[in-house]
Amino acid sequence: MDEFKKRYDGLVIGGGIAGMQAALDLAEQDYEVLLIEKDPSIGGVMIGLNKVFPTLDCSSCICTPRMAESVHHKNIKIQAYSEVTSIRRHDPGFKVTVRKKPRYVIEDKCIGCSQCELECPVDVPHEFDHGLGARRAIYIPHGNAIPQVATLDVDHCTFCGRCAKVCPTQCVDYTQEAEDVEVDVGAVIVTTGLNITPMDAKKEYGGGHLINVMNPLAMEAIQASNGPFGRPLRPSDGKVPRTIAYVQCAGSRDHTIGIPYCSRVCCMYALKQALLLRHYLHDVEITLYHMDIRAFGKGYEQFYRRVMNEGVNIVKGKVAKITEVENQDLLLRVERLDEGGRLEERRYDLVVLSQGLVPAWQGKGVLDIELGDDGFFKSISPKISPVLTSAEGIFVAGVAAGPKDIPDAIVEAGAAAMEAAIHLEGIGYREQVLTASQS
Ligand SMILES: Cc1cc2nc3c(=O)[nH]c(=O)nc-3n(C[C@H](O)[C@H](O)[C@H](O)COP(=O)(O)OP(=O)(O)OC[C@H]3O[C@@H](n4cnc5c(N)ncnc54)[C@H](O)[C@@H]3O)c2cc1C
Repeated sequence: MDEFKKRYDGLVIGGGIAGMQAALDLAEQDYEVLLIEKDPSIGGVMIGLNKVFPTLDCSSCICTPRMAESVHHKNIKIQAYSEVTSIRRHDPGFKVTVRKKPRYVIEDKCIGCSQCELECPVDVPHEFDHGLGARRAIYIPHGNAIPQVATLDVDHCTFCGRCAKVCPTQCVDYTQEAEDVEVDVGAVIVTTGLNITPMDAKKEYGGGHLINVMNPLAMEAIQASNGPFGRPLRPSDGKVPRTIAYVQCAGSRDHTIGIPYCSRVCCMYALKQALLLRHYLHDVEITLYHMDIRAFGKGYEQFYRRVMNEGVNIVKGKVAKITEVENQDLLLRVERLDEGGRLEERRYDLVVLSQGLVPAWQGKGVLDIELGDDGFFKSISPKISPVLTSAEGIFVAGVAAGPKDIPDAIVEAGAAAMEAAIHLEGIGYREQVLTASQS
């Protein structure tokens, strides 16, 4: 489904694992789906993960086939690097405005050959590697990106013209502008997912200024063989770390930063990363400081026990402060909850903050649906059908509805697709559209 149509049965906002699953499940029922993704590629957080708990399967090996299936499905139109700027009720469905951001590359003509990237003289910290690697000012986001189309970053481009000169299909267009497109849809599924809490949320942990204090997504990137270093190294000096600490609840269950809820996946992703570090760097010493371990899913408790058996130190203790000392090492001041609150100081080469999950998008000015106290989209029927929102015809799935892991996000996406299908049938969307077009 290549061309942009004027009408779709379903609109999915957000092309992570939940969005792709919702789009596929609707499309398989013969509904036509428009999937809008704000980034240059679909895939969401999952395409940037190294391996997934508790099976330790390669994350992109699971995610990439879903991406390919979505883009090749005859009933799905994917519009990446675009945003929904308005959704208005327009019986029997909604009128939606989509803003296609300018890539400064003609998408239909780009063949993804990377000639432009190779020729570009400008290096920019790469978002996909969390700033640890570099990309060019004109770039394809990563090897598994869909669509495999270049995007020119005007904030860093020097307009030297070298990319345009070398492009075999003449698809670089410095004059491109944002384009607004209006479409009618019968149902909306919101799957806009997560951000992690900002690094500067907790000043006691360095406020984002300490180079060897990493965020967990950057750790995923450096563990990956296709990551910026190809193996886990310290960002400050490229040395192999010998001692690593994980600080749990570094952005969740904390009233002082306005995030009182549990982000649910942090214990499991920290255990996963710690175990993999033990595999990658055999004599590394890893300590995970936690308030309590929440291993809530199928096989998760067993995974937790495996991690302990494989030599990761799991310590019930609250990290009060992280300070940088000589050699950019890190001194942790810890209240040992397992030893009656005794204070101790330990020095580490590298620290990973298990930052929590916050909503990536709250729909401000676009979606008039209720948010919960936690800021995620509110489910009006959390026990019976968690995908229902306060607005009829608008459904929510994945982390957009609250913190959860990949299996739960996928199941919820399937449920949202079913509710959307039931809604479309219930309002007789196709029949109404047909009648309107004939009159
Ligand atoms: C460090 C870390 C490790 C993890 N490891 C695991 C693991 O091993 N196993 C596991 O089960 N779970 C893991 N998780 C959790 C997992 O990442 C999430 O469950 C999963 O990514 C949720 O998918 P989603 O589609 O709901 O959201 P996302 O993956 O966040 O996808 C949302 C998509 O929507 C797009 N979007 C956002 N706003 C807009 C907008 N306004 N318009 C259009 N598009 C928009 C985003 O760009 C993104 O592509 C981990 C999480 C973290 C932080």
